[in-house]
Amino acid sequence: MSYSKAFADFLESRNFKDLEYKTNESLATHCTFKIGGNADFWILPKTYTAAKDIIFAANESNVRCTVIGNGSNILFSSEGYRGAVICTSKLCGISVKGKEISCKAGTPLSRLAASAMKSSLTGLEWAYGIPGSVGGAVYMNAGAYEGEISAVLKESEYFDPSDGRIKTLTNAEHSFSYRHSVFIGSPYVILKSVFALNSGDAVEIKAKMDELMAKRREKQPLEYPSAGSVFKRYPGFYTARLIDEAGLKGYRIGGAEISTKHAGFIINTGGAISDDVLSLVELIKEKIYKLYNIKIETEIRYIV
Ligand SMILES: Cc1cc2nc3c(=O)[nH]c(=O)nc-3n(C[C@H](O)[C@H](O)[C@H](O)COP(=O)(O)OP(=O)(O)OC[C@H]3O[C@@H](n4cnc5c(N)ncnc54)[C@H](O)[C@@H]3O)c2cc1C
Repeated sequence: MSYSKAFADFLESRNFKDLEYKTNESLATHCTFKIGGNADFWILPKTYTAAKDIIFAANESNVRCTVIGNGSNILFSSEGYRGAVICTSKLCGISVKGKEISCKAGTPLSRLAASAMKSSLTGLEWAYGIPGSVGGAVYMNAGAYEGEISAVLKESEYFDPSDGRIKTLTNAEHSFSYRHSVFIGSPYVILKSVFALNSGDAVEIKAKMDELMAKRREKQPLEYPSAGSVFKRYPGFYTARLIDEAGLKGYRIGGAEISTKHAGFIINTGGAISDDVLSLVELIKEKIYKLYNIKIETEIRYIV
């Protein structure tokens, strides 16, 4: 464990005021893969100021840190994380103004979609059922069933640790492309996003959401821990189909298995460790390259 007394003292002085924290916390309990060792510090800021101060204090104390949302697109190392994992789950809140919805980064994406439906606003039906936070969805330009964050996002507010300021980005400034935004690989922390939607009929919106959720239940192995589709789609191909055609469905390493229901998912059948998943990912990549001469890329983020 990498321990900084100054950082621990800072956290203790704010605990239960505007943040909550634990030390030596299991990361497996905080991600949908249910894989991961312990983090030295697990921190839940309750306000933007707390989030800023935590990152500032961590930098001052040379404690490395990473920000996550709901942990549904990540694989934590089974060796754990030496430093602070900061989770946005307590930075939640939605406000609707006309056809715009403003949403704090830790708000579940499904809650945002449900709120849009209740306000008779259309454009986010596809997002219902994605188990991530709004911040995580903006970070990687989440999408499904022909919908995508980039099509409905107006602007985001983020914290820039390099100068300690909160800044705003317009949609164009997000540099969105398929499963990509300007935030990927940056030190920025997404705090809030505003979505511009269209008027619709709440009954029709709900029917669409229910239809897409039923599709998810039918096609995806939701009964097992996973991080969703492991690989990005390859232009012109569905990667899952290539994996299926390569005969890899059901292939197992340790506790990790290529789902027999959806070849794009790697599931944790129980007791999987991060190396099991990483070995399966490499095996899939090599086989697809050998068979189709295509280099597929992972969508999930490995946090080590
Ligand atoms: C069963 C299942 C189905 C899924 N279906 C889909 C789907 O249809 N479409 C789709 O696109 N994805 C899907 N996913 C993947 C995942 O839910 C989405 O990518 C989601 O947007 C990730 O959000 P999160 O809050 O869980 O992010 P996390 O997994 O917590 O984090 C992902 C990345 O975002 C960064 N991040 C998170 N929040 C912030 C923030 N506030 N500021 C800066 N960086 C941040 C993290 O550092 C990390 O690198 C699915 C996953 C599962 C398990």
